[in-house]
Amino acid sequence: MNIRLFKPSIGQEELDNIKQVFDREWLGLGPMVSQFEKEWNDYVGTKMSIGLNSATAALHLALMAYKFPKGKKVLVPAITFASTATAVLYNDLIPVFVDVEKDTASMDLEDLKRKYTDDCVAVIPVHNGGYPVPMDKLMEIAKELNLKVIEDCAHSAGGVYKGKKLGTWGDIGCFSFEEKKCMTTGDGGMICSNDIELIEPLKAQRWVGIDKDTWKRTQSADTENDAMHWHYEIALLGYKYNMNDIAAAIGLAQLHKLEQMNLKRRNIIKKYLNGIENLKTIKPIFPYDTEKGAYWFFGIRSEHRDELIIYLKNLGIATGVHFYPLPLQPLFAPYNNGCKVAEEIWKTFITLPSHIDLTDEELDFVIKAIQEFDAKK
Ligand SMILES: *Cc1c(COP(=O)(O)O)cnc(C)c1O
Repeated sequence: MNIRLFKPSIGQEELDNIKQVFDREWLGLGPMVSQFEKEWNDYVGTKMSIGLNSATAALHLALMAYKFPKGKKVLVPAITFASTATAVLYNDLIPVFVDVEKDTASMDLEDLKRKYTDDCVAVIPVHNGGYPVPMDKLMEIAKELNLKVIEDCAHSAGGVYKGKKLGTWGDIGCFSFEEKKCMTTGDGGMICSNDIELIEPLKAQRWVGIDKDTWKRTQSADTENDAMHWHYEIALLGYKYNMNDIAAAIGLAQLHKLEQMNLKRRNIIKKYLNGIENLKTIKPIFPYDTEKGAYWFFGIRSEHRDELIIYLKNLGIATGVHFYPLPLQPLFAPYNNGCKVAEEIWKTFITLPSHIDLTDEELDFVIKAIQEFDAKK
């Protein structure tokens, strides 16, 4: 056996869309990106979406939209991928780590209140693994404390909390289409919001600050009679963060399959949960709701974590750990403010093969391996 941890699920639909891009011979920022943005808006239910080359770029730009003064603070969970906190540093802001809850590994809202100071201007909740932060409660706290809310939905494309799509609870939602995530464009990201005025400038800022993208300039009706059609204005400092049409072509096909893919992942999780239900030493990493929800991975907790990782590796089963707490990373050590729960519970985390093309045979093989490991403990 050689069972991968993550793997994109891609096929003919993606290829058909890419063919359209090749036929048009326009690979960069163009009509496919616009189409993807439009369909993303419709799917998530926001007023504006902007296609980017990553969620890292999305988080960077989302914070930039507010023009916070240098040195202000942003609350981020201690357990997340690096980009949630590097986006804070890119903006000359200071990350304040919030501890996680013991049982859910999700941002602890009580600790958030404890860590809050007058310098805090925003919070970036992360729906870690697809487990939703209780956004109703968070929004209440944010309102009270006057914090802007940028949802990091890198793990939760298509996710819903209390009937409302994740990414629409906060002021801005940021999504990742990196190849391992719920849906992919190879690399890619999306920023979306109902506050058009707030995020509109980010359209230029994803394109080196240029106010009109090249596709729009070449398509404008008066191009033929306008010798100045090449002209554009640069009023803002921007970055080269745009999505391109090849990525958007893949993204459109993936978006059309997203609900189906999230359902498949829930069914895999259901099988895992049944398989580990009666085990002595192994528990799910957080409480899964297999009836709804968009989960990025299936994880477990084991006191014999490292031993189990090696045991599975020797059977050809790839595993991972999501995530090593950021305050323990050298880059973030200066901001380590004591997230005791995170520092404890991560030691038990194992992510199991979670991609949707896992066969029943592979899934049964992994579950059996875990059961056998548990029986010897
Ligand atoms: C993957 C990830 C990101 C970054 O996504 P990219 O598209 O790879 O830049 C941001 N936040 C979290 C929580 C992630 O897991």
